[in-house]
Parts: sequence; structure tokens; C-alpha cells
Amino acid sequence: MNTPVAAAGPGRALITINSRPSSVMVRGDGSWLMDEAGKRYLDLMQGWAVNSLGHSPAVIAQALAAQAQRLLNPGPAFYNRPALDLAERLVELSCFDRVFFVNSGTEANEGAVKLARRWGRKHRGGAFEIIGFESGFHGRSLAMMSASGKPGWDRIYAPMPGGFVKATFNDIASVERAITPDSVAVMIELVQGEAGVRLADPGFVRELRALTTERQLLLIVDEVQTGIGRCGHAFAHEMYDVEPDVMTLAKGIGGGLPLAAMLCKEALNCFEPGDQGGTYCGNPVMTAVGLAVVNEVCRREFLDTVRERARQLSDGLQALVREHGLVGERGAGLLRALILSTDQAEDVVLAARNLAPVGLLINAPRPHLLRFMPALTISEAELDEALRMLGRVLRDTLR
Ligand SMILES: *Cc1c(COP(=O)(O)O)cnc(C)c1O
Repeated sequence: MNTPVAAAGPGRALITINSRPSSVMVRGDGSWLMDEAGKRYLDLMQGWAVNSLGHSPAVIAQALAAQAQRLLNPGPAFYNRPALDLAERLVELSCFDRVFFVNSGTEANEGAVKLARRWGRKHRGGAFEIIGFESGFHGRSLAMMSASGKPGWDRIYAPMPGGFVKATFNDIASVERAITPDSVAVMIELVQGEAGVRLADPGFVRELRALTTERQLLLIVDEVQTGIGRCGHAFAHEMYDVEPDVMTLAKGIGGGLPLAAMLCKEALNCFEPGDQGGTYCGNPVMTAVGLAVVNEVCRREFLDTVRERARQLSDGLQALVREHGLVGERGAGLLRALILSTDQAEDVVLAARNLAPVGLLINAPRPHLLRFMPALTISEAELDEALRMLGRVLRDTLR
């Protein structure tokens, strides 16, 4: 059961931010998580899609240990080797030329907005406004809450930073209507994760690229959730065959640790010295981990396997759709959703976690929708087992 506002229990000394189960997680291994009571869980959440290589993979433990002994942090006033190497690798893998490292997706997106405004000041007569999308999610700083299109988020901490407007996802006419002389960039998730794994239409993305180019707007893709192999490609925009001007990465690139990046084309490399920075930006320990993750994930055979597992997951979910008369299944790569015909997603999540002796961890970003974001390294047998467990839960739970 979830502990409500915890006056007692394990969370009694923490500021209350959400309701969590009372179990305390103590070990992880690949697709498996174990709590203090010794119960095992097959984990298809992986810390919200951050553990791209699963729990505690050896390559990360090794990268961490080696770098921790060599150099923790010379500070952002100096170059360090892992940050340079990871930047070079990301440039080599992508259509971008420059990289700025930060610690979270929020910061990466905030950096992208700052870069766009800096560029607007220099090259577009002071244009500053960012066009985002309804139901979009870009992070939890005040500005990124403004950039996000989550219902209600404009009120919780009002007054909010200005300069953000919203268009409708997959509706190019709504983007055209949102453009004013102040517009400087369009910021989009090609797969809206938090909104329930909603995919941008290929035609819409092509039109969006053409429109932003024609109107001299930057196209910023938020690949915090979709990047680094999650969608079966190094970056999700490769599926759409467009080149954005700016891309942000976080979650998967750190393999579970706090690392994020903002990448841009050479023409946008326009911060003045001192405009942008951060104490932990590009610290060698996190970037050494990032390099280990990227080198593992962005190999052809690895990405081929991700696409195979994605097909297996998609087929398995479609079979459950037919068996239970559900609405459908959708996604890209190993970021997928199952759409129920009732608002019972939370009940399913709870029943899955409570399965005994082994629980199943999944997530419900919407009341009628389950999201799956397993480790990119999940095995065929583990995925089959997860689908069998899910089938059992659906049979027992759905009305
Ligand atoms: C998770 C997420 C963010 C925020 O990243 P944090 O690391 O939590 O700050 C931003 N954009 C998208 C698309 C995300 O999924």
C-alpha cells in the first residue's frame, strides 16, 4: 500500500512530495530490484527510464570507480578528459557540433531556452518567445513549468516566468497561429512521455521543420526521455529524418546518475563568457559514466537488439489488447504504453507491485494508461515473464 502523507513510517524525516510504497529498495541487478524485506521486483520503470543499462551494471560501476580514484572534480574553470571525450563522441554520433553538460533534464532545457534567447537577442532583433505544446513536459524549475503544458502548472507556484506560449501537438496550423514577431523557437518532445507516450506524426514533424526554417525559428527537441537508444535509435529525431537546431538529453545518458546535455549547431554557439555555467557542469565522474553508457548503447548490434525487444513488447501488449478488449498499444522502441478502456491504471500498477512472491513495476502516467520503459538490456525471457505477469494482473484487476 502507499503510505499517505507520512507522519510515521520510513519517510517520516523527508519532506512529503508524493505517496510512496512503504518498502525500501536496497539492491538492483539488471532488470531486477530488491527491497529490504527481500522481495524481488521485475522492474519495467527503471527509475523513470533513466537506467538504460538496468540496475547497477558493471560498466557503470567500473567507470565510476576508476574516475573517482583519478579525479572527482577540477571544477568548471578547467577542462577535464571525460567531458571532452563524451562531447566529441556525442558530436560524432549526432548532427550537432557543440555540447553543454548539466545535471538534469530541467537544466538542459533551461539551457536551451537561454541559448535561444541569447541567439534571438543577437540575430533576431530580441525575439524571445518559446512555442511549446499542450501536455508537454520539460521539467520542474519555474521556467520549465512555464514551458511545460501540464494542466494546472501555470497556477501552483504563480507568478510564473513569461515568454512561453502553447500550440497543439500534431497541429501545424496551431503552431503557425502561435508565431509572432517575438517568437524565437519551438520546443517539442517528439514522443510526449509524461502525457502518455503520444507520438508526433511524421508529416507534422516535417512540416514543423520546414515552418521553423522558413520563419527563422529554432527547433529544439527535448530528447530527455527519448534519446540514447530508448526509441531504438541513438536519438528519436532520426526516426523522423529531420535535423533539429538544438537537442537536450538527460535520463538515459547517465544510466541512473545525474547527467544531462544540451547540444546545438555551430551557428548557435553564441553564449558570451560567463552567460551560462554551473558548479557541477561536465564533472568528470558523471561524464565518464555517460561515456560508458553511450559507448555501450549507441552500437549497431545493441540498437538492433533494442528494436527486437521493442517488437516483442509491442506484440505482447497487442495480444493483451485483443484478450481484454483494451483500446490499444503504442510507442517507439522501449518507450511504450498500453491504453485501457477504464480508468484503472493505478489499480493495475498496485496489483502488479503486490504480486507475490515476485512483483512487477510499471507506471501509470494517465488514469487509463500504463507506461513501460524497461532497461534497454532486458532479456527476451525477462520480457516474456513481465508480459505473463501483466496478463495475470489484468485478468484479476480489470472490470
Ligand atoms: C524527465 C523529463 C524532463 C525533466 O528531467 P529531470 O532530469 O527530471 O529534470 C524533461 N523533459 C522530459 C521529456 C522528461 O521526460
